Parts: sequence; C-alpha cells; structure tokens
Amino acid sequence: MRPSDLACRLAEAPSGADLASRALSPRQDDSTDEEALPPDDETQQSVRFCTGTACTFAGGLKLRDRLAGIAGASPVRCLGTCHDAPAAQRGHEVFGGVNRLPVELWSGELSASLLLGASAKRVPRVSLVKPAALLRRVLDGQATPNAGMYELPSGEEILRRVDAMGLHEPGRPDRTLTARWREARSTPAERRFVVARGDEGEPGSFLDRVITEDDPHALLAGLHAAARAADAREAVIYLRAEYVGAHRAVERAIHEAHAAGWLGDDLHVELILGQGPYICGEEASLLRAIERGRPHARPLAPFPVNRGLWGSPTVVHSVESLLTLNTTLTTGRGHDRRLICVSGAVREPGVVEALNGMTVGQIIDEGAGGLKDGVRMVLVGGPRGRVLNADELDLPLDPEHVPGMGYGSLMVLSEDVTPRALAEHLFQFTASESCGACTACRVGASLMPKMVDSAALTTLMEHMSSAARCGFGRETPRPIKDLLRLYPGELFPQE
Ligand code: SF4
Repeated sequence: MRPSDLACRLAEAPSGADLASRALSPRQDDSTDEEALPPDDETQQSVRFCTGTACTFAGGLKLRDRLAGIAGASPVRCLGTCHDAPAAQRGHEVFGGVNRLPVELWSGELSASLLLGASAKRVPRVSLVKPAALLRRVLDGQATPNAGMYELPSGEEILRRVDAMGLHEPGRPDRTLTARWREARSTPAERRFVVARGDEGEPGSFLDRVITEDDPHALLAGLHAAARAADAREAVIYLRAEYVGAHRAVERAIHEAHAAGWLGDDLHVELILGQGPYICGEEASLLRAIERGRPHARPLAPFPVNRGLWGSPTVVHSVESLLTLNTTLTTGRGHDRRLICVSGAVREPGVVEALNGMTVGQIIDEGAGGLKDGVRMVLVGGPRGRVLNADELDLPLDPEHVPGMGYGSLMVLSEDVTPRALAEHLFQFTASESCGACTACRVGASLMPKMVDSAALTTLMEHMSSAARCGFGRETPRPIKDLLRLYPGELFPQE
C-alpha cells in the first residue's frame, strides 16, 4: 500500500479516529493554506488538561479537580508546555500557567477571552555556544526559508560529509546516521522510506513542538537530505496531534517547498497526526502506528532499516536529528551540541543550545537563570534518565552519564515534591505506558507501587532491567534506583 493510499484510507475513517493523514505533495488543488488546516469542530472545542510530569507537579492535580465539573474536560498525556505548566487545551489553543486563573473561571462556562490572558508563553531560547547553530535561524530572526536550505549534494557526498562529522541520533552514539542509511540503501527493495518522529510525549520535553513550529523548513530539508542519503523517495512526518500549531507550520512548509520547487519531484511527503502512546518513540511501534496497527516494541530483527513501513527499508529520525542534519550540511556546525529543554523550578525555563558534555548545573545556571530556592531534585533525561539532588549538578549531560536520554531535558522539582510523590508518578507512568508485550515489564510495572521495602523493589527492578524486551522496561527503573540511593527513608519511612 502506498502512503497516498494510506492517506485516503485514513481520510475515510470515522470522525473521532485518533489518527489522521494528509497527502501533501505535490498540491493537487488551488486551496489556500488556511483551507488546508484541520477544522475547528465541536470535538476540538472540548477542554483537556495535561497530566505530564511538569504539569502534575505544578498544580495539575488541583487543575484536574477544578476542571472536573466542566463538561468535556478530560486528561491528555502531554501538551508540550512544560516550560509554562500546568497547561490546558481548548480547541486548538493551548494555554499555559492556567493555575494563575481564579478558581471561579473554571467552575462554569469556560470563557476563551478570559483564558487568553493565560495563553501559552512563547518558549524562551538561549544558546550557550557562540555563534548559535541549531537555534541560529530563530535567534537571529532568519527563519525565512530559502532555496539554499534544500540544495543538496549527491547521496554519496552526503554520506561522506556526515561520516566525517560522525553524526548519530541525539543521545544514541550507537546509532550512526550513515550506517543506517547505508543499510537501507543496500537492502534490495522497490521502495524505501524515511520517517520523522515528532510525537514526543516524554515528560519534560517540548523540543519537537518548538522545532516544528519555529523552523519547519529545517525539519523538511533535513528529511530531504536523509531521503537522498538512504535512496528513499517517500517520507512520512509523524506529528503529535495535540501540536496543532506545529501541524499547521509543517503543512504550510510542505506546500511552500513544493510551490517554490525546492523539494522537486524526487520526494513524496506525507504528514500523519498521531496520538500514539509513549512506546511510539520506539521505531517498530511508531511504524506500526503509521500502518494503523497496535503499537508494540519489536527490538529484534528484522529491523525497520531492512524491513519497516509496508515491509520496505525505513530509516526513522527524530526531529532534532533532522534539524541537526540540515544545520550541519548547510553551515558545517552543530554536530557537537544538543538542544535541552529546561522546565520546573528555574528562573527562566526554555530551550537551551548546549555543547555536548556541558554539566547540568552549567545549563541551568547559564541557560535558564539558575535554580529557584528550595530545590531538592532534578529529573534529568526524562523517565528513563536520572534523578539528581541539588549537590550533584556537576554531572555532564551526555549519554555516558545519563544513558537512555532520548530527548535532552532537565526538569527541576521544587521542595513541595516529595521523593515518594515522584516515585509514585514514575510508577504510574511506567504502568500506563508499558506496551504489555513482555512479562518482565508488564508485570513488573504493575508490581512496583506494591513493593513494601527497598530490597523488594530493588530485586524487582533488577529483574526488569535484565529481562525486559526493550529499552522502556529495562531503563524506566533507573530514576527509581536514584531515588532509593538518595532518599531511601523517604520512599519507605518504616525502614
Ligand atoms: S519492555 Fe515494556 S514496552 Fe518494551 S516490549 Fe516489553 S512490555 Fe513493551
């Protein structure tokens, strides 16, 4: 089945389907961009409150209670607004800091005009490296797209240049871009795909939203380069459905790139909106979701790079990886750094461009205005990363010290958040996001909150870490182990 067939099939799906797709290249009609945007129908007018980690610990539970009486109010896993938590969504609009509103506003008819005062703040951006590379187009006000972004050398030349820079998927030094492209190129097939994974739901990360809203052409041009290097002529951009602004920006960018002739006829691009579970960060799960199957991890051969979407070789890249690819190909800079999302109890939460190996403390102090008073814990690298206390912030933020860090994120938790509360939140996250395909993770996740002492919990987590099938089950115990290391008496007061 071709992706355009998929788009047609999904377009015919009953309303309320949690996945939608548009055939976008090249444009077949003369409709305007606005006409191409998703309708603001009644379903989308409902109110949703974010249950992500930052929102939960920034008053999200109180927000949930306030909204409980409002018809249609429902939870949503992540709105990508960790920098201005807690967040809620009405229709297409996302509002940050909504606990600043008086309680009375939430008790009856929700007024959008009153809510506008709480509209999500633009995410601050800071580069700790001069000149900026990954954020340069945004910081310098140069986000106007141009033909140069899309001018590409041959596939072989891209491979040579990217080899020389040693680019790999962010946070995954074992995943060299060129090795995956070469594998896809050398696998005999009539069709090959490249996929942009923009469905973050990682607690503490809002990077996919920022990149796709700010600089969608960099994403698209990076995808174009990846396709040429992998000898693919079909591409899919899988975006989180809640990111309506990002969807609009990417859709517009695709039309602009085709209208200007920058993409040419050698790449067919599909945009798919997904509300997939967290496990869709795993490649096989993501591809299953695109094919509209039930997502579950498949960390065994055949790998997607040999047998992926519709049985064809498929290379999946994160949005950050494609931004880095475009930046390095057009400027020669950027391969030595990452974008880090900083949220929680810091003075200026936002996105920070940092050199690989900068310490957690450096990034917080120089990029986010420093810690607020009374900080006890920092969740580094999301639910598969680490928990540090305030005396451990000299840890370099790299895969060696924070393995499992898919997205670069630092979530600073105020002293109101107890280690037990964080542990329970992480237990709940693991249980609700486990895909259930293997016993060690499925059963382990359900048992973790029931353990009565640290020895039993440690034994259970060791079993999960050694026997779970994929990185999710093997790595989600990691921050809990840190909590036991740092605060054993607070997780189990009876000990
Ligand atoms: S470890 Fe968890 S997420 Fe991974 S395959 Fe097993 S059940 Fe699924």
